[in-house]
Amino acid sequence: MTTPDEAREVVTPLATVRDHADDSALRPRTLADVIGQTRVCEQLGLVLEAARGRGRTPDHVLLSGPPGLGKTTLALIIAAEMGTALRITSGPALQHAGDLAAILSGVAEGEVLFVDEVHRMARGAEEMLYLAMEDFRVDVIVGKGPGATAIPLEIPPFTLVGATTRAGLLPGPLRDRFGFTAQLDFYAAEELAAIVHRSARLLAIDLRADGCAEIASRSRGTPRIANRLLRRVRDFSEVRAAGVVDAAVARAALELYEVDEQGLDRLDRAVLDALCRRFGGGPVGLGTLAVAVGEERETVEEVAEPFLVRAGLLARTPRGRVATAGTWHHLGLTPPPQAAPSRALGSDTLWRDEANEGAD
Ligand code: ADP
Repeated sequence: MTTPDEAREVVTPLATVRDHADDSALRPRTLADVIGQTRVCEQLGLVLEAARGRGRTPDHVLLSGPPGLGKTTLALIIAAEMGTALRITSGPALQHAGDLAAILSGVAEGEVLFVDEVHRMARGAEEMLYLAMEDFRVDVIVGKGPGATAIPLEIPPFTLVGATTRAGLLPGPLRDRFGFTAQLDFYAAEELAAIVHRSARLLAIDLRADGCAEIASRSRGTPRIANRLLRRVRDFSEVRAAGVVDAAVARAALELYEVDEQGLDRLDRAVLDALCRRFGGGPVGLGTLAVAVGEERETVEEVAEPFLVRAGLLARTPRGRVATAGTWHHLGLTPPPQAAPSRALGSDTLWRDEANEGAD
């Protein structure tokens, strides 16, 4: 029996403990190894090559996009391509300016500092980071009140790589200090198939072309999910199918883990279900929808919605979230006549449309 938690862990785009074990084996290590995101890789390649040619550290890089699309992987690649070390921290770990000062004071010349969830940094740390990014200097405040003094601390030139699921939440002054900004997009089915194929080779899995396509099409546009589904299908095939993964084996395994044909997870389905069954297809505000599915507003907005919007299963309008005809069909329900058409949205209208947040 698959427990609900296990089923959920299989499709969440967020990293789980189990993912980390295989991560180092499966992560592409050079830009040339990266599958998909061709434009971003080409642009990034130029930034790095130009910096190498000038013997300088590359500009600070901001990577944005939903979880599991390769932001950490690209940060590791930037450091590797520059032949330098990577230091890793995250916004929630930088709650005081002192937390950041401690990290920055240990950075060596040319190193890459990766700050995941950079939009979650505390204000004080953020202000210190402005100065560090621009002037390679921080002011460490010693003492409190009127007697407090600022001691300037020089930092060797370094490259900051910031990752965020919500570029729109970054304060302007911080965003402006990144010399190169890239938006990662969901992967096409052929790209995911190529990723699954590569991972199967690295993990020595006997994967047939139709099995590969089946896993790719249920991966929610996300490499992290593709790799995870591959591992679950491998378990199933070893126990029940003599280790061979074809379409029938992949389908049977993924049905067992309750991964549907579009790869939607429990949260995605709960959002769609609430939208149609409780709110008659909307419009409904994000906060109300989040309460209805028992999740944080940010989780619904940053984890579930981007893919649902992309798949044409949810639309963001100035009045709130609305179901499309496709949402109703996906739940096996008949759409009301006024339901919006379920046009799958192109990547440019993706989740980044911060102006269309929808009323609450
Ligand atoms: P993020 O930091 O955006 O949440 P990660 O960089 O941790 O995502 O990527 C998740 C996993 O997906 C990694 O373990 C990596 O193996 C795989 N991955 C991501 N992007 C690619 C890609 N372009 N090609 C192959 N594998 C990828």
